[in-house]
Amino acid sequence: MHFVEFMQVSGHQELAVWTDPTVGLKAFIAIHDSTLGPAMGGTRIWPHATDDDAIMDVLRLSRAMTYKSAAAGLAFGGGKGVIVADPRTDKTKAMFHSYGQFVETLNGRYVTTEDVGATAQEMEWISHETKHVLGLPESLGGSGNPAVVTGYGVFQAMRACAVAQWGNDSLEGRTVAIQGFGNVATSLSGYLRDAGAKLVVTDIYEAARARAAELTGVRVIAPDDIYAIEADVFAPCALGGVLNEDTISRLQVPIICGAANNQLRDPEDAERLRSRGIIYAPDYIVNAGGVINVASEYAGPYDRAAAMAKAGEIFYTTASVIKRSRDEGITTARAADELAEQRIDAGRVK
Ligand code: NAD
Repeated sequence: MHFVEFMQVSGHQELAVWTDPTVGLKAFIAIHDSTLGPAMGGTRIWPHATDDDAIMDVLRLSRAMTYKSAAAGLAFGGGKGVIVADPRTDKTKAMFHSYGQFVETLNGRYVTTEDVGATAQEMEWISHETKHVLGLPESLGGSGNPAVVTGYGVFQAMRACAVAQWGNDSLEGRTVAIQGFGNVATSLSGYLRDAGAKLVVTDIYEAARARAAELTGVRVIAPDDIYAIEADVFAPCALGGVLNEDTISRLQVPIICGAANNQLRDPEDAERLRSRGIIYAPDYIVNAGGVINVASEYAGPYDRAAAMAKAGEIFYTTASVIKRSRDEGITTARAADELAEQRIDAGRVK
């Protein structure tokens, strides 16, 4: 499908293109829907092979942000930025000044923040050219590392899954298998250990596995063993696409609840999980702590306690999505989309 047709079919409002050969910059910003507020979403820095790949990526990601913010009850629409570059070698201050000028041309219709390949440093460079940027370092009054709030939100979603599966929210004595021991998993594991859960952890990096192994009550396993481990909860906290026909057939858990974006490889995977009786907490409901955190910065001044309190509501959102899926006999993924669509529809001028 041509991208313009894709935009029409999926309800996108705008796609902006910016090139600046003097700094080696090619970037795209997509605004999917701004019914509930300015389009918000991170800037991804990735060396896409073709312009079409980058455009389809920014369009899909911006649409996902509309759903994530709406379901989290935030006054934001969905947007996304993509800079076509290798984040390990290509990032320069001049590139992000130019990108900041691009963001500024949209006059606040799009508000950016970090995504894959970006850090708070680049957000600071962007802020030299526009005020429509979030995720600045705490030293500049920003919200800093979002993973603390995201990890707390994942923990709350897991409690809601426990209620739905076992009738109470206690995770004491439960085994949680965590894939990827990065920023969010580190925060999440603190809450889980405090709650008395046992952890089984893996990571592809030896340094991350070693960090996990130092914690008491944590067992470290090889990356591929995480799918077949017998546990109470599987928490994907690494990459997307990890729930697919192959892995779903190997899983031995009654609950999946983790931070990774786009966990389902195909839409049918939600039905595969449902038919196996596994509760899947939809990724964008579970990991909304990140966007909740920057929403607090947007409202200003940033208030960590308020962001944590709002992330606590992920417990209720997750519970209502699971209930809706049971009541209507649909997947939790569909139930989450329905919740978001209802909120967007309610915000539309009729
Ligand atoms: P991170 O980069 O700090 O950690 C990810 C970890 O996963 C790394 O240690 C990496 O080595 C490991 N990993 C990668 N592939 C793996 C594999 N196949 N098997 C095992 N381990 C693997 O990232 P993060 O900030 O902790 O985010 C984790 C996930 O949550 C990402 O998908 C991210 O998009 C999503 N997310 C994060 C936030 C946030 O606030 N940081 C918010 C929303 C969503």
